[in-house]
Amino acid sequence: DQLAARVRELIHDVPDYPEPGVVFKDITPLLADGPVFRAVVDRMAAAAPGPVDLVVGMEARGFILGAPVAAALGAGFIPARKAGKLPRETVTGAYDLEYGSAVLEVHADTIGHGARVLVVDDVLATGGTAAATVELIGRTGGEVVGLSFLMELTFLHGREKLAGQRLDVVVGF
Ligand code: IMP
Repeated sequence: DQLAARVRELIHDVPDYPEPGVVFKDITPLLADGPVFRAVVDRMAAAAPGPVDLVVGMEARGFILGAPVAAALGAGFIPARKAGKLPRETVTGAYDLEYGSAVLEVHADTIGHGARVLVVDDVLATGGTAAATVELIGRTGGEVVGLSFLMELTFLHGREKLAGQRLDVVVGF
């Protein structure tokens, strides 16, 4: 479709970043295009499966997309932050990245029991980040109703780590 074609044009490949052999997909040209940014947010919001109470976005590009998707849905926004950034008691999930490893956390009291949660991030790569986030949300009592990504790097098979979850992606590579 037309939007997906435009999104592909505006995602730039950066070879050997952040390390040799990795081709980094840079979304900053897309974010800088007002009409495309709005259309992407609208599409991600429209793909939400039924009512959503909360959107969880992963630091840092999941904030950029997740917060406007939450506002479009009239849902709350929860930042899943990297270790040590949140001031109160947290629930923590560790995960492996395409390159390196990391920890994400949310405030322990922030996701109410039974809350319907949509997870939003820019890239589904190996799926480690998303799987850790789903697990984390489960431990806080939330119910993940779906995950929405701007792009999926299909050759990394990240969806295998998300079996049983509803996934929506704007473009696949
Ligand atoms: P995963 O855990 O391997 O699925 O990696 C997904 C996370 O890494 C997301 O939070 C992305 O923001 C980031 N990421 C991985 N590959 C890329 C890329 O090529 N471009 C931008 N972000 C990426």
